[in-house]
Amino acid sequence: MKAALPFRRTILSGLAMLCAGGTAHAQTPTVSVQIRLRTGGEVTGLIVDHDDHGIVIVRDKMPYVFAWREMELASALAARRAALVLLRGGEDQLTGEDWFAMGLMALRWDRNDVAGGQFREAEKRDKQLKARVREALEEYRRRKQARAAEDPFEDAVNDERENQASEWADAVPERPADIEAQLSDAYHTFGAKVQEVLGKDVVLLESEHFLVWTDWEGKLRDQLPRLCESMYAALSEQFGIAPDEQVFAAKCPVFCFRSKAKFRKFARYFDGYEAVSATGYTRSIERHGHVHVVLLRPGKSEIDFDQFACTLVHEGSHAFVHRLYTHRLIPHWVNEGLAELMAERVLGERCDVGETADLLARQYARYDWKLDGLLQSASPLEVHQYPAAHSIVAYLQSRDRAKFVEFVRRLKDGRSSSEALADAYGLSIEELDRGWREASTLGAPKELP
Ligand SMILES: [Zn+2]
Repeated sequence: MKAALPFRRTILSGLAMLCAGGTAHAQTPTVSVQIRLRTGGEVTGLIVDHDDHGIVIVRDKMPYVFAWREMELASALAARRAALVLLRGGEDQLTGEDWFAMGLMALRWDRNDVAGGQFREAEKRDKQLKARVREALEEYRRRKQARAAEDPFEDAVNDERENQASEWADAVPERPADIEAQLSDAYHTFGAKVQEVLGKDVVLLESEHFLVWTDWEGKLRDQLPRLCESMYAALSEQFGIAPDEQVFAAKCPVFCFRSKAKFRKFARYFDGYEAVSATGYTRSIERHGHVHVVLLRPGKSEIDFDQFACTLVHEGSHAFVHRLYTHRLIPHWVNEGLAELMAERVLGERCDVGETADLLARQYARYDWKLDGLLQSASPLEVHQYPAAHSIVAYLQSRDRAKFVEFVRRLKDGRSSSEALADAYGLSIEELDRGWREASTLGAPKELP
């Protein structure tokens, strides 16, 4: 006897429209869920698939994948529960492991109060889980202590000055001679200006390739240059650049804020950018190749730190690639796909973009969804297209890392995606699309929770 579903059971008929090759999957039962993102914004759609890392939904014939950790906790828990009920065939069929997994999720969001409820349900169904619940809570306390730092502060910043974006361009010399020394001077002068505008608690940490300005807590800020340098090492390795070679002009300025007011003020004042829902961006000036990266850590929970790290590597990869070989910008799908790939490579388990890209790619292969010109388009990608771009870049690298470097080199020389692909891999866009789908189908499906 199965309890009634708390969700409306629907047939995933939307997929029939997306299915070029028939209606074999048109009768997949599904339910509708609402996804609310931590960065704001929400989307409602029908569940296609899910795993430990994220969920795929379809809406208006468009597939979206979301990592659980991108979502607000209540929304993540509700969506995961809906997906599990669908999978198990009823609310009362949920296992102890299911509830345990949802409890772990709540701990990540720093909500041990919510986790308590999930863990109680887990233990009710499976007494053996008691020990694992205890371990998880101890581990959670240890991690939390490691993160705990000095008193948090939030300065109210009300100074509404004019956008000073042009200061960058003016500070950076045009002549190539002595450009490094001049840039280094210009950057330090600029740092002083930043302190003048944002306050003296914005301090400079310098490493081999980066100038990090930050308002982070004293105990926590040391990880910033370390993270930047691990990213630099991974990118150098990726492109066969000697570790002591400097890709940036002088060093790359990176601004890491914990105060949202400071982050927004910096964006408005120095870059003329209203960073309302953003948590990071890269400023690239194509004329002389100046780049800087600006980032916000949105809170103090574990996923806030992880999200920050993920954004740092993503944006830092854009900055690096902008400076690599030439100052030319490369097609957006390669740029975004590579940035996501680097985040996964540098951060491993702290970042779920690799897992969600795999999860989405399997649905593209299974339902024969079209990429809709993604690989030919010159316009910027929507965020929901990043996972597909990531999966395709990962596929190109899995075929041959050296050819991928050649591919990027051609793009930086001004070739189009299809020319560079033909030169480096001997592939057409259509062949790439086909090969990627075959590889995604063959990829061992991840175990469902
Ligand atoms: Zn990006």
